[in-house]
Amino acid sequence: MKVVVGKYSGFCFGVKRAIDVAKETLATAFHPVYLVGEIVHNKVVVKDLEASGLKRADDLASIPSGSIIILKAHGSPPETYEKAKELGLEIIDATCPMVTDIHREAKRLEDQGYQVIVFGDKNHEEVIGICGYVKDPIIIAPHEDIEPIRFRSRVAVVCQSTQKIDEMLFVNTTCQTTRQRQREIKELAKTCDKVVIVGSRNSANTKHLYEEAVAINAQTVWIETAEDLDRTFFSTDDSVAVMSGASTPHEIINQIEQTLNSFFN
Ligand code: SF4
Repeated sequence: MKVVVGKYSGFCFGVKRAIDVAKETLATAFHPVYLVGEIVHNKVVVKDLEASGLKRADDLASIPSGSIIILKAHGSPPETYEKAKELGLEIIDATCPMVTDIHREAKRLEDQGYQVIVFGDKNHEEVIGICGYVKDPIIIAPHEDIEPIRFRSRVAVVCQSTQKIDEMLFVNTTCQTTRQRQREIKELAKTCDKVVIVGSRNSANTKHLYEEAVAINAQTVWIETAEDLDRTFFSTDDSVAVMSGASTPHEIINQIEQTLNSFFN
């Protein structure tokens, strides 16, 4: 068996940065350190940080005054900063700089008079954060939100040939690592016999990688850890691509690679 690990697998820049910020804060803080929800959609990482003292809260209001709150890589709307200050919390902001760019860009466009359309899942924290920076956003999520229009999995936007070009602006704010991963998984899905996508079930970017891969190669599985690998799915002469979402640590990918290599040795 030949195992090919996607070169863009593992933490993305923003997730790695947020985890480093959390570790550094935990190592130096004199007050309890909290986070609302999970820092990344990965049980191993969350467990590791909680063992180092990171506390999880359901909402800001339940965090004792004087504590430290870490804001996640996905970004937060302005109200979160205001509320944290009102509650007497010290903010450590781990928002990915690329998400901050989207906030800035969305606000800039609205200030210039554009109606801002945000393409994404309205329940995703990143989308909630972006929408916090514009007064009147329209959220378009394929498959779900716009009725009776039914979007297919790929959407193309075209406009009437005589529309005024100055009234339209399309800004692609997907980040570079997302584009690289999606490009790479399409190549790997074409060239390998089987594809293993690694990441949590609640990770949106992992879901997108899985969808891209399975559309090209039906022999694609989505797992969370090496323990989920089913030996009977593989054959000795398979080439197997392994690709992870942005919240999966390299240790998990290494374990998966080792387990696959051990199957027929
Ligand atoms: S996926 Fe991109 S924008 Fe999102 S946290 Fe990672 S690097 Fe930042």
